Amino acid sequence: LSGSLSRAIKNMNNATIVDEKVLNDCLNEICRALLKADVNFDLIKNMKINIKKIVNLDNLAAGHNKRKIIQQAVFDELCKMLDTGKPSFTPKRGKTSVVMFVGLQGSGKTTTCTKYAYHHQKKGWKPALVCADTFRAGAFDQLKQNATKARIPFCGSYMESDPVKVAVQGVERFKKENCDLIIVDTSGRHQQEAALFEEMRQLAEATKPDLVIFVMDSSIGQAAFSQAQAFNRSVSVGAVIVTKTEGQAKGGGALSAVAATKSPVIFLGTGEHMDEFEVFDVKPFVSRLLGMGDLSGFMDKIHQIVPTDQQPELLQRLSEGSFTLRIMYEQFQNLLNMGSFNQVFSMLPGFSTDLMANGRDKEGERKIKRYMTMMDSMTNEELDTTDPKKLINESRILRIARGSGCQVKDVMNMFEEYRRLAKMWSKMKGLKIPRKGGDISA
Ligand code: GDP
Ligand code: MG
Repeated sequence: LSGSLSRAIKNMNNATIVDEKVLNDCLNEICRALLKADVNFDLIKNMKINIKKIVNLDNLAAGHNKRKIIQQAVFDELCKMLDTGKPSFTPKRGKTSVVMFVGLQGSGKTTTCTKYAYHHQKKGWKPALVCADTFRAGAFDQLKQNATKARIPFCGSYMESDPVKVAVQGVERFKKENCDLIIVDTSGRHQQEAALFEEMRQLAEATKPDLVIFVMDSSIGQAAFSQAQAFNRSVSVGAVIVTKTEGQAKGGGALSAVAATKSPVIFLGTGEHMDEFEVFDVKPFVSRLLGMGDLSGFMDKIHQIVPTDQQPELLQRLSEGSFTLRIMYEQFQNLLNMGSFNQVFSMLPGFSTDLMANGRDKEGERKIKRYMTMMDSMTNEELDTTDPKKLINESRILRIARGSGCQVKDVMNMFEEYRRLAKMWSKMKGLKIPRKGGDISA
């Protein structure tokens, strides 16, 4: 999707005058791209009509930047499609809320339940997980494992086969224990089946959730609309979480789910790990959908804070996508010098790790300085390798730890941070990066 959309906009940028034909060609190309991404056909049709209404070429005075206006209109329309105008129910800390997760098998419910609990726990909430999936063998074990890892209280049953009983018992128990976020994980089926929807209806009736979250796999495409609609008919869906959004950005399904449930997307799953979870934000998501990232803002920041003589090299590396420990070191240095690394990288979709989020405060700064001390104990070979995993063995790690007066555990943490940043960095690979003044705003 991203490729064709950005191509459509680029073609428009290349046309010297924007007339009715250029507008139509551009819109048709965008619509084709959206269709290919399995966005619901009616949604696309409406978007096209709306854009044509907004971009009334005849009424635009000469001298207006028409291309910019069209570009902005496409961007705004997609944003509007994702913005329901009414926020979803938001649980309140210290007050008991029951949140029920629904979705087909494999959509990522169990994983996302834990991520959601963990996300709140980190902020001081008291979450708890209830496994009401008595359908799939091993479901309780999976939830147990996840919950244990995150140290979140959980309950479920190996014996009881009635999901409603298990759910009610769990919710009651955690209410007594004063948990403020009781999360009910439910079972799925491979397909949309009457039995599943009946089970969801009964579960909702019995546990009276404050919020039902529909979880969908970003790759289900065209099926998203009917799937979301079907769940919304049996239980009233209040929010959507889209999983597996890392890698290729396929946004079509999210648009459909929002339209079908009239509920907003609240989080994105960006990997299998507990902390690969992001608060959903419409504009960066649409930018990414359009294949732009938030590159204009990003580039402005790069120009502001990266010393001029380092800029061409950094841009080159960004487009190559190879992230070495030395790059990490240099970026840490920039961060400490300028104090706004966090601001820069938070503009890249997916680039908000815990470290970056903390980068502003003293704790983050200390961590970064410690990492830099470790890297000072590394050889040039180690700093410049594009595959540290292969090169840096146990004895090298021991040496680095000794050399920097740190624990092996700390060095491992540093590599973990590197791994995370490298993963994000690799998303930049092949992106066309505009030079200063380049016209890529949306
Ligand atoms: P459920 O059947 O709906 O409970 O789905 P699970 O939570 O068991 O997830 C199914 C698979 O998808 C598991 O292998 C998860 O690790 C994986 N998964 C879930 N969310 C994500 C995500 O955001 N990214 C990736 N890459 N995998 C995910
Ligand atoms: Mg599950």
